[in-house]
Amino acid sequence: MDTKIIKIDEENIDEALISQAGKIIKNGGLVAFPTETVYGLGGDALNRESSKKIYAAKGRPSDNPLIVHIADIRDMDAIVLKVTENALKLAERFWPGPLTMILKKSDWVPLETTGGLDSVAIRMPVHKTAAAFIKAAGGYVAAPSANISGKPSPTSAKYVIQDMDGRIDMIIDGGDSGIGLESTIVDLTGDIPVLLRPGYITVEQLREVLGNVDVDKTILDGDCKERPKAPGMKYRHYAPKGELTIVEGQALAVVEKINELTHEAERKNKKVCVIATDENADSYEAGVIKSIGSRNDEDIIAHRLYTILRECDDENIDVIYSESFDSAGIGQAIMNRLLKAAGHHMIHI
Ligand code: AMP
Ligand code: MG
Repeated sequence: MDTKIIKIDEENIDEALISQAGKIIKNGGLVAFPTETVYGLGGDALNRESSKKIYAAKGRPSDNPLIVHIADIRDMDAIVLKVTENALKLAERFWPGPLTMILKKSDWVPLETTGGLDSVAIRMPVHKTAAAFIKAAGGYVAAPSANISGKPSPTSAKYVIQDMDGRIDMIIDGGDSGIGLESTIVDLTGDIPVLLRPGYITVEQLREVLGNVDVDKTILDGDCKERPKAPGMKYRHYAPKGELTIVEGQALAVVEKINELTHEAERKNKKVCVIATDENADSYEAGVIKSIGSRNDEDIIAHRLYTILRECDDENIDVIYSESFDSAGIGQAIMNRLLKAAGHHMIHI
């Protein structure tokens, strides 16, 4: 398949191009598009054949449901059984933005889109190109992240092209994703809301609006034997090709340990990378040092994480050692993705 690649400037949207992209979706095709979190791989959420094509293009297991993206809060009504009070409160506070809510679905949404579940995940992105595209596509765009299943989510068009060129109809290049981590997911189908995937909107922020919010136990605990409630969270995910290990402890001890490990790996002729904070970057002695940002700036760390993991693939890195980050606030999302990328392989010192 010939994949058309177009560029759209969020501040000066080319309506003719957006309408072309929208038509592709209405005709059952697939278009990758930028959002504020990561790039999405979009198809018509109400067309079961489109959803099947998304799974095929990504190589994604079909029990892993897709998020339905909308551009108008009122469009939520048609795809859920009931817009609950909690959903309204969250929408008012965080939409448009990086929050996905799970509600009981209406018959309009095919089971192919929801991975066979009777609930549907819904998000309204704030990215202007994403919103214009969703409108042009008819209002309901099912979209997982636009990567081959298992790889880190793409945060720039370069990596969407690397994974999806030849597999889908169009890629909209809208520059770098601002946030760089997938949306926060909250399940509103039970009595108590449950955080299923941490993201830029933190659990503390959700609690400010809803009061009590539970956290799915599997989010940070690698030893947890329970099944994650978001089916997608059970898969090895976000992973670079190289073997990633997180080293946790006091700063000086971490630097010392990583230096020992990188020297050892280089002696075995392995290509090594260190994911370092700005504060420590100069202290590493061996391997490719990739600075992820200041320890005090979680926004930058979130923004850089997937790019760094993808760069490790580009550079054929065999072994990666990463510092650990605080797991409060957005740090919870950062550590959740890093732990998954590492297959929960962590050294405590
Ligand atoms: P992605 O689109 O790649 O960001 O992945 C979407 C995530 O949302 C996956 O982890 C899914 O398992 C999760 N998800 C989507 N719909 C539902 C749902 N109805 N119930 C629980 N989790 C969901
Ligand atoms: Mg994904």
